Amino acid sequence: MSVRVRFAPSPTGALHIGGVRTALYNYLFARHHNGAFILRIEDTDQNRLVEGAEQYIMDSLLWVGLIPDESPAIPGENGPYRQSERLNIYRQHVEHLISTGKAYYAFDTPDELEQARKSAEEKGGAFLYSSANRMSMRNSLTMTPEEVSEALKLKIHHVIRLKIDPDETIVFEDLIRGSVRFSSNELDDKVLMKSDGFPTYHLANVVDDRLMHISHVIRGEEWLSSTAHHILLYKAFGWEENTPAFAHLPLILKPSGNGKLSKRDGDKLGIPVFPLTWDHPELGHFDGFREAGFLPEAVINFLALLGWSPGDDVEVMSPEEMISRFSIEKIGKSGSRFDIDKARWFNQQYIMASDPSYLADVVESQFIDAGYSTGREKLISIIRLFQERVNNINDFVTSSSYIFHAPSQYDADKFLKKWNEASSLLFSELIQSIQSIETFDSHHIEASVENFVTQKNISHGAIFPALRIALTGVTKGPELFPVMEILGKEETLDRLSKGLHYFNNK
Ligand code: GLU
Repeated sequence: MSVRVRFAPSPTGALHIGGVRTALYNYLFARHHNGAFILRIEDTDQNRLVEGAEQYIMDSLLWVGLIPDESPAIPGENGPYRQSERLNIYRQHVEHLISTGKAYYAFDTPDELEQARKSAEEKGGAFLYSSANRMSMRNSLTMTPEEVSEALKLKIHHVIRLKIDPDETIVFEDLIRGSVRFSSNELDDKVLMKSDGFPTYHLANVVDDRLMHISHVIRGEEWLSSTAHHILLYKAFGWEENTPAFAHLPLILKPSGNGKLSKRDGDKLGIPVFPLTWDHPELGHFDGFREAGFLPEAVINFLALLGWSPGDDVEVMSPEEMISRFSIEKIGKSGSRFDIDKARWFNQQYIMASDPSYLADVVESQFIDAGYSTGREKLISIIRLFQERVNNINDFVTSSSYIFHAPSQYDADKFLKKWNEASSLLFSELIQSIQSIETFDSHHIEASVENFVTQKNISHGAIFPALRIALTGVTKGPELFPVMEILGKEETLDRLSKGLHYFNNK
């Protein structure tokens, strides 16, 4: 059987980073088995739909490079891939369940249900619409066929429920948790079709998984308890043999390790818990990893290891390595702590290892926004110079600001304590020798400065602090010769003589 998996988000808000991890594990599993990765939009809960959420999901997946094989945007043979476009399919399927006696119409009014709930609570129990009480409720099992067709004709408010037999044990092997069992006596006759004619999550999810030939359902652990109903639905449809395998992913925990990671943790700790920043008029503001300066590759690597481990100490992995090493068996059973420092560490590793021209693509707009006009070549040189020194994509602009602005002040107090006439003379001679460099690139500048050092028989310490402070205003930074090349001869000489003037007059 070929592997087909799906990521099935509901467009009810921003896609939490845990959702991205679910998508990633589905993707890695599909690619590992040369299978298909499908994106299905589960938008049947009309009350919870949020405008822009579907686009946000698509944009997020695109940003992290999890491109589905089939999706609303890339339809395959099993579409449509948006549940709201499949209402007829659910209608036909639920009618089939009614005709085979596996589901029934329920006409109970909200008041009647409330009454039943109250009386169950008075007896000390919770109300469960089930085999224990359905024969005392208003439904097609207790009404005559004539009453039922009359009620349907009059379009009396109703839902369709799954008829669950009592005293059954539902057992399945979760690929992460092992054997899981439920008793049908604990389950309610779930609503499959709501009064608005829309299917519930359970019906639509199972019908689609079957019709889309899903082989493995890999999803968050919050869906574990729904699986009993899903398995009964497969049975009701006569699809037992095609029931997919299930794998329920453990939670992502707060950085403290206590409880589930939430949007509030992100706000409280000032860390992103969503892939992309999103300002929504009603839902509020969501901080994104992208805007916080993370590379998507780093986020993916971080998420891959947030719950899965290939079984050795290797941490930085290319997508190909992750794909080849991925297995569900190596996903842990317990929750994983959301360690933002680890995410930052991955980010730094990826920034250091990235091709400067790729980083240039990522940061170009930031330089433009900052008003720093650079040609492509110069931008790449700047990136090459700083990529070992920044932790974050957003730091390129700030770290390299002195390339674009000559120093307006100098961090020179300590350095000037040793400044004297001799050092001033030496520095002017150095400026002169730099002036005579014809090909002003880092190699020629280095050769010339080294030659100066040898000829004068001085240590590097005699000139480098002055050079650095005059050029950048600060005492630390990247290699100076490339900085001079990037500044160009004229700007370099201008800054050096201004620096000399400042040192002499301080
Ligand atoms: N629509 C569900 C969600 O929003 C999908 C759960 C599943 O994968 O079955 O997470």
